[in-house]
Amino acid sequence: MSENTLGLHYTDAPGHRVVAAALRAAYAWSVRDVQRNSAMLEIARMTGVVMEAHGPGKGPVTPAELVDRLRLPLRGLLAGVREQRAELDDVVLLDDEGRLTENAYDLVCEHVVPLKDAAGAQSWLPTWTTMHSDQIRQRVFTAMITSTKQDEYVASRRFLIEHPAGGEQELVELRDRVGGVRLAKGGYRAIPEDQVYRGLDAQGWWWPCLECKWPMAVTSTGKVRCRYRPHSAVFDLVPGTRPTLRRRDSARRVSPPAGKAVEGAKCVDAGVWRFVVVPGASELRIAAAAERAGAKVLLWPFRDRFDLLVEAGDEKFSVDVKECLSLSSLIERLRTRPPSARVLLPKSCEWQLETLRDALPGLAVTTETKFLGQVRTAVRKAR
Ligand SMILES: [Zn+2]
Repeated sequence: MSENTLGLHYTDAPGHRVVAAALRAAYAWSVRDVQRNSAMLEIARMTGVVMEAHGPGKGPVTPAELVDRLRLPLRGLLAGVREQRAELDDVVLLDDEGRLTENAYDLVCEHVVPLKDAAGAQSWLPTWTTMHSDQIRQRVFTAMITSTKQDEYVASRRFLIEHPAGGEQELVELRDRVGGVRLAKGGYRAIPEDQVYRGLDAQGWWWPCLECKWPMAVTSTGKVRCRYRPHSAVFDLVPGTRPTLRRRDSARRVSPPAGKAVEGAKCVDAGVWRFVVVPGASELRIAAAAERAGAKVLLWPFRDRFDLLVEAGDEKFSVDVKECLSLSSLIERLRTRPPSARVLLPKSCEWQLETLRDALPGLAVTTETKFLGQVRTAVRKAR
């Protein structure tokens, strides 16, 4: 265990360090065309971290060898340094074209620990490759808590979750309309190019995910999809002067989002999206469903002691929504920092229920489906 500047705890075992170093090296490789010198230096530095974790004579010994290993399942890099990282065994970080895989964004990022001694001031590295998810969250929420007013805190957090991207002017107007919104400086930035489609006229377009509203990733083959795979809608791009999307799987009849011009548009950084907006979208969805059922809901009460306080009929329920795709990271976190309310697994994580119960027998835990059923019953009983 080690302690960072924010006073949060995280484990800093060799397995964690190897995963964090591999992700940083993979990210650096994926942007080497734009960040030539810094990227190659970073890969060399991360080779050192991996070598140190493996011990002399084992594992990759040159940056080129490390990059080769990033195109293979992580099992290889983790052999000999593993501490229950089995869920990463088959995960590959770089695809054939040297870009980060979807797994890097939605699963591996949950394993990141800061590499203190090797970190330096690498401001070009995104926060989700260098910081623990708790640190990213803490940084965002600290800016909101400067006011002691609970309603301003709720308004600020809600605003960020509901508007993770948009036209700069549009965002300012929305913010003024809501009032009392406090966000960290520099929270919104230009939309990354791999989340933009550029037509022959070089005009750029982006599409908000139907579930989290953050710009979806656009591949070179014209596949458009949210980086968080439980937000599962996949679209095909239909080029033109005003490009549109066509749903790839015809199973669900949801109309695709309309394209928006990238000029003047901004979005929150990937770390804030992944660790504040994605779970936040689930928190708001569950709150709205409980309200529709006739319950009263308080969001993030007592300055975020837990996520939802739900008053249904004569009963009161408090829950903490845990949206964590990595089951081993979730278990680790619940062990070191026991929750102050019943844990609620949102739809995308309901499959974790049994394993979580087995791993932590004393833990109070429910799922989105079960919880909303309980709320409806409580409302009905009181009528
Ligand atoms: Zn999404």
